[in-house]
Formats: sequence, structure tokens, C-alpha cells
Amino acid sequence: MATAVKPWLDQAGQFPIAHIGGIPHFNQSVLLDAPRTGVLHTTEGGWAGSLSVFKQHFAPHFMLGFNADAHKVQIAQLVQVGTIGAALKAHNNQAIVQIEMIGFSKETPWLPDDETIDALASLMAVCADEYGIPLEHPWPDGDFGKAGNNPHRSSGKYGNIAGWYGHGDCPNPDTHWDPGNLKWSVILDKAKQMTVGTPGSQSAGPVAMALEQSAAGSKKKKK
Ligand SMILES: [Zn+2]
Repeated sequence: MATAVKPWLDQAGQFPIAHIGGIPHFNQSVLLDAPRTGVLHTTEGGWAGSLSVFKQHFAPHFMLGFNADAHKVQIAQLVQVGTIGAALKAHNNQAIVQIEMIGFSKETPWLPDDETIDALASLMAVCADEYGIPLEHPWPDGDFGKAGNNPHRSSGKYGNIAGWYGHGDCPNPDTHWDPGNLKWSVILDKAKQMTVGTPGSQSAGPVAMALEQSAAGSKKKKK
């Protein structure tokens, strides 16, 4: 049962999303029935240089971070959601959204600057509401996939457990380890705060009904 997804996003929190053309497209559909998965990368370079690479190949759906030419943090969409991004070597069809964040991977625990955190959390919050990608990372902070083969790649989680992955968590033949030792919980917690109260995210589905019932139940008990 493949339902249509919204192909282009216009806004994530306070950040307007620019649509950038001239990107090579594969026009191959992602697996819409796969567990909803996002993959986060770091560009390992600046905005302009990264964009010129993506205009030739390896384009993700979204690129975000500090754009030195514009003197601010921005979000851009390069590839329509529903078709594959190309930032992975393989298994691109199992990630409904791929994001390239301007930044550099580190082996020590790290976070981007505050405004980039805000942009990333905002985009992840929209992707949770719009595409159902849970605001979860399947490993604790500090347990990250390293270069080459590593236990994260062979864990079998990617493609089976919904959530947000780093490139270093994605299966062979991918070998890149970005974004490294990112403090995922900080970003995901921020994104979760942004989705609370958003129409549609809390007010529909069996979980919401269960929550409503337990809330009603606890009120009765207090009386
Ligand atoms: Zn990558």
C-alpha cells in the first residue's frame, strides 16, 4: 500500500526551505512501505562547494547549515521526497529522507552551532509529522559507526527499524562514517519538543487514543 508523500517542503519551524534546481535526479521511487528512515550526513565542506558537488552527483533531499555567502543558516531541498536521494553508495531506496548538514565529523562528542541544531531539529520535526520518521536514533550517544566495516553496518537495524541513522550506521558497501560521534539525543529531544501539540502528530492514531484514555482514567482516580 504505497500512499503518495508530499514531494516538496516549504517551511521547517522558522526556516523557509529553498528549492534548488539543476540537480540530477534518478526518478527511482523509495520503498514507501519500508520502516520510515532518515539518514544524516555531514558535508565535510562548505555550502557552495558542497552544492556544486550535489549538482553533479550524490545529492541528498535536503542540505542545511551555514551558508557563508548568505551569512546565515539555511535549509534547501534538492531532490523531491518519494524519489531516492543519492548520498549513500547503496540502499538509498530505504531512506525516505537524506540530509546533508554543513559540518565536519568528529570522533569526540560534538554538536553543530545552535542555529544549525535549530534548523536540523526543525526539519526532523517536520519529517516526523509529514513522513512518519520517528525521532529516534537506534543507538545511545557515543556509540557511533566508524569508518569502513563496523558493527553498526552489520547490525541489521537499517531497513528494519524506523528512525534516524548516520551514514556510519548504514550497511555495506557504504564505508563513510559521518556524522561521527554526534550527540543525537540533544537534537532529537529538541525536535520532539517542536512536534508536541502539532496538529496530526498527537491527536490521531491508537497511541493518542490510549493516551487520552489513560489521562481520563487518572483524572477519575484523583476524584
Ligand atoms: Zn555521508
